[in-house]
Amino acid sequence: MSWNGTLRCSYCYESGHSKRKCPTMKQRHDQYVALTEAGEDVTWRQRSAHREYKEMQETLKESNKTCTYCREGGHRVLTCPMRLGDVDKLKKINRWWKPLVTKTLREIGFGKGALIARSKWVVVNGEHEKREIPHIVLGFNGDHYGPLDFTGFAEGFAGIMVMDTTTMDRERVYLPPSVHNALFHAAFGVEGHEFGESRWSPESNAHPFQAHVPRGLGQSNALPLLAPSDTSFCGGDEDKLFFPLKKKREINKMFRSGKGEYFTEENTGCFIRKIYPLLKKHKGVK
Ligand SMILES: [Zn+2]
Ligand SMILES: [Zn+2]
Repeated sequence: MSWNGTLRCSYCYESGHSKRKCPTMKQRHDQYVALTEAGEDVTWRQRSAHREYKEMQETLKESNKTCTYCREGGHRVLTCPMRLGDVDKLKKINRWWKPLVTKTLREIGFGKGALIARSKWVVVNGEHEKREIPHIVLGFNGDHYGPLDFTGFAEGFAGIMVMDTTTMDRERVYLPPSVHNALFHAAFGVEGHEFGESRWSPESNAHPFQAHVPRGLGQSNALPLLAPSDTSFCGGDEDKLFFPLKKKREINKMFRSGKGEYFTEENTGCFIRKIYPLLKKHKGVK
């Protein structure tokens, strides 16, 4: 209730209903679910409505002591056996993934101080021209935990900070597609199989992973590497590129949907559960 006694929604700010019954939030949440199921892109509005909606449901359900992760009763999400099982699978995956990432980055020369090319409009002798401007790779976004964690295949890897060598401006850009592709191939490439160009091609159907992983294989040539660097992003402590899953409070942040204080979303747990047996079968994950 607001000061004058009208019921006002704290989500859409319209009067006449509360946040709990907000039709706008519900609609955006439903759109998020439908689009995600169809593998389509979602807007940040839909994503945040989805998060808020789920959080609300979680609060409501917590009063009934139903686990929001597996929908079973008798425990909460923090002690959920299914969620802890998924954390365990991710730990096993990361035991294989960590050295593979380190090796892949070294092979392609993607390290601190590498140069990448960004196309920019610049003024040359009074004329606007599109030029490839070298940018120095400074590191990953400082506010992103586990920038190259395996779960990045489901949620997107972190962006990087670069510096324009002509203006010295610092900018945030997405992970270069060439780096993404190298990681994708390292993770999901299987001897004797090709990645199909579309999901419906015969190669794609025959590939052990392609139907189960998000479309990560871009044909984009954006942000090509101009010069390599073998300098580690984290002073040799490559563990910092992945989510720490040792302490209880770290494990508590995994596969939870919230407002940014969590590492990953619930749906990502489902991705790990599906992909783990395939990695075990085809990539030698223990
Ligand atoms: Zn509303
Ligand atoms: Zn549970």
